[in-house]
Amino acid sequence: MKTLLNNIDLNEALFDNSNIGFVPTMGSLHDGHISLIKKSLKLSNRTIVSIFVNPKQFNNKKDYKKYPRNIKKDLKILKKLKVDYVYLPRIKDIYKAKNKIKIKLNKKDEILCAKYRKGHFEGVIEVMIRLTKIVNPSKIFMGEKDFQQLLLVKRYIEKNFRSKIISCKTIRDKNRLALSSRNNLLNKNSLTKASAIARNLIIFKKKLLKNMNLKNLFLMKKKELKKKYNIKIDYLELRNTKNLRLTKKIKNAKIFVAYYIDKVRLIDNF
Ligand code: AMP
Repeated sequence: MKTLLNNIDLNEALFDNSNIGFVPTMGSLHDGHISLIKKSLKLSNRTIVSIFVNPKQFNNKKDYKKYPRNIKKDLKILKKLKVDYVYLPRIKDIYKAKNKIKIKLNKKDEILCAKYRKGHFEGVIEVMIRLTKIVNPSKIFMGEKDFQQLLLVKRYIEKNFRSKIISCKTIRDKNRLALSSRNNLLNKNSLTKASAIARNLIIFKKKLLKNMNLKNLFLMKKKELKKKYNIKIDYLELRNTKNLRLTKKIKNAKIFVAYYIDKVRLIDNF
């Protein structure tokens, strides 16, 4: 495994390669990331994993500062997986390019996390455009855990670059909690609660049937979760998986949730 510490290293390493698989991450790697990396190793000639905690996508400075970082452990994991390259850019490697990139979401995209984390997806899309220009991969591997991110990035990147976005299923632990670097910030009690919330919503989704009064059911479910687990819910909604419109149809729909537990914001979809 070659470690690329800046764009000079990166250009030297990649200039001669084709069919590059790229897995962008913010580090603190877990089995969710590992599933993306394994898919890339299988489908690409060379796999490059980036670790970059992107300041521009944090709408809250404290959240950026406390984001879990564990580079030593990450490098060990990547080495064991026999990843070809790990790219550890500095902020200036990503943002030094003089061209300004101004992203503006459409009004209809200002839903779910875009509504509650102002500027977040603009930051994500900008960094993905910059990374795609730098790495120039054939495929970019992204997780369904961040479903709204996946759809938005896919739309922007596939419209403007030759790179294809490959979506990867959400990996959960044995208690059904979606793996997330942010889980590292939770104490044992909150982790137990977060798992119970995931199981609760998986069962709730299974029980949804045609012709039910969904509006009422979702309101009641929100109340129940808030009371039972002492959480603050940003949203709990059923949306179509193609265009993320609110829907009353269960087919091709997912439940999307974002909530705060112990001041940590978790998102999931079922
Ligand atoms: P992050 O490091 O949180 O920015 O995530 C990097 C990539 O890993 C993104 O494409 C995420 O959607 C994906 N990812 C994060 N958690 C999971 C998970 N539990 N299962 C599958 N993919 C995930």
